[in-house]
Amino acid sequence: MRLLLVEDDSELAAGIAEDLRREGYAVDCTPDGIEAEFLGREEIYDAVILDLGLPGRPGLEVLHNWRDAGLTTPVLILTARDAWSERVAGLRAGADDYLGKPFHTEELSARLQALLRRSTGRASAELAVAGLLLDEERQMVRHPDGAETQLTGIEFRLLRYFMTHADQVLSKSRLTDHIYEEDRGRDSNVLEVYVRRLRDKIGRDLIETRRGQGYLFRSRR
Ligand code: CA
Repeated sequence: MRLLLVEDDSELAAGIAEDLRREGYAVDCTPDGIEAEFLGREEIYDAVILDLGLPGRPGLEVLHNWRDAGLTTPVLILTARDAWSERVAGLRAGADDYLGKPFHTEELSARLQALLRRSTGRASAELAVAGLLLDEERQMVRHPDGAETQLTGIEFRLLRYFMTHADQVLSKSRLTDHIYEEDRGRDSNVLEVYVRRLRDKIGRDLIETRRGQGYLFRSRR
C-alpha cells in the first residue's frame, strides 16, 4: 500500500512516516499544498493523509480540486483539535475521515486500516484469502496448517496487495506503484525476485504468472 503524507511540520511528518513505514506502507511525503495536489493527480496512492494548514495551497483547496477532478482516493485530514468547523468543511470537501492533532500514531494507523479496508470492499479486520491469514500487526502470514512465516517489509507489502486484490490480473507496473516509494528501486526484475521469494513462503500455486500481463493471486487453491 502506498500512501501520500502531506504535512508541513517536518518533525511530525518524519515521525509519522517512520511509524507508517515500520507498519509496511510505502510513504511519499511533501510539505507543500501545490506539490501535494500534483502528486495526488499524477501518482497512484491507496490513501492520502492531508494536513489542512499548508504553505503553497491550503489543504481544503487541494482536496476540493482533487474531488472536482474525479479523484476517489481515500483522504484522511489532520485538523486542529477543537476546530469542529474545519472537520465539517473537510468532510464536505470530500474527506473520508479526520483526526484532530495531537494524536497517537496507533489511532492514525487504525483509521487508515479501516479506510483501506472500506476502499477495497472488505468487511472484516482480518485479511484472510486462500486459507492464508495475514497478521498486519506482526507482518506474518499464517498457513492453513497453523504454521506462521515471518515476511520481510517488501514481501509483506506485496502479499497484502495481492490478498486485497485477489483474482485480478495485476500488471508489474501497478504492483511496483503500490509497494515502492517514489524513485526507489522501481525495477520489474527486482519485483520478479520478490514474487519468487513470496512463492517460496506461501506456495507456488497461489500466484499465477500471466505472460505479458502480470500476476494473479488466486483466492482458491
Ligand atoms: Ca500545518
